[in-house]
Amino acid sequence: MLEGHFVLTRGLHSTVYLQCALVLQFPDQAQEFGHAIAENFQDQGVQLVASPAIGGIVIGHEVARALGARFVWTERERGKMTLRRGFTIAPGEKTLVVEDVITTGGSTRDTIAALQEAGADVIGAASIIDRSAGAADVGVSRIALATLAVPSVEPSVCEACQRGEVAIKPGSRKP
Ligand SMILES: [Zn+2]
Repeated sequence: MLEGHFVLTRGLHSTVYLQCALVLQFPDQAQEFGHAIAENFQDQGVQLVASPAIGGIVIGHEVARALGARFVWTERERGKMTLRRGFTIAPGEKTLVVEDVITTGGSTRDTIAALQEAGADVIGAASIIDRSAGAADVGVSRIALATLAVPSVEPSVCEACQRGEVAIKPGSRKP
């Protein structure tokens, strides 16, 4: 969790940025988060875990390992979330969708839609962090290991901008 003045993916500004990659770079910690998510779905017969690339891949893989399930990922092709790389879904395959951080739920919703189109039975969704304060609706039951209310605002009403502070895009060197 970084504090400062950040531009998020959808152009909103926030004083807090959650960079899960910094935790997930340690395999032992990724495995622990994977177990913690998996515990919520232990008795639900999950056969497949699927995650949106890139952010969801490491944690999704760990959840799949903990559940003894298969793991695939989706990626955007001309803006549309798709299953590529020869991944196939068995009809009615019980599937859990896992992401690192849910902000609006958009990536998870798009991943669910791609899987359902391919015939999956999506039984739930999960993330390490929910920064929507529980508000993101993805159409299936959803859990998060931590739920935060992290305000993000339009640049026109951003207090840090009004103080003349330059917002940075996390992960890039340039503002
Ligand atoms: Zn700002």
